[in-house]
Amino acid sequence: MSTQTAIPKIYDGKLDSAEWLASPNFNERPKNSDIQAIVIHNISLPPDEFGAVVKNGLHYVKALFLNQLDWNAHPYFLTIKGAEVSAHLFIERDGQLTQFVNFNDRAWHAGRSSYLGRAECNDFSIGIELEGSDFMPFTDIQYEVLASVIAAIYEAYPKTRRHLTGHSDIAPIRKTDPGEYFDWQKLRGMVAQHINAD
Ligand SMILES: [Zn+2]
Repeated sequence: MSTQTAIPKIYDGKLDSAEWLASPNFNERPKNSDIQAIVIHNISLPPDEFGAVVKNGLHYVKALFLNQLDWNAHPYFLTIKGAEVSAHLFIERDGQLTQFVNFNDRAWHAGRSSYLGRAECNDFSIGIELEGSDFMPFTDIQYEVLASVIAAIYEAYPKTRRHLTGHSDIAPIRKTDPGEYFDWQKLRGMVAQHINAD
């Protein structure tokens, strides 16, 4: 009846549907910091270009999260030179899904931020990067993969339910992602379908 992507499973903080590439950019969550929110981002390197790869075939964004980006490969990269960042998950334009940090660990995606009065969102959130831009719609397959992943996270970490937010919401002065083209209503509808079908 439904053609939606099946809900993946999470075992010991790892999503079974994602390719695993271990980022060095993480640390332990502080004690008593339960996973309580999901933060959606967009990223593209260089900005507004998709799918570009470094010489060894590694996607630029993956290279960034693995500290393998050649800062001299593009003028923009010099503006972020030395950045040590990560996200738990990255969803490419074609739906490819990669996990870089175990959900039980703290990824470095939010920066200075606050959610519902609580600072340091990295401590208690899961960060999901979509390959995208503030100026272009996301792909249907990205929404499908994202919705299935969120349903899996809700199941494994129930405190995240109803705490789905965007980077621009938790760091409004600094950040604009995931941007105006990101369709929250569509996403919420797709997540609800998963949960109701489960
Ligand atoms: Zn962001």
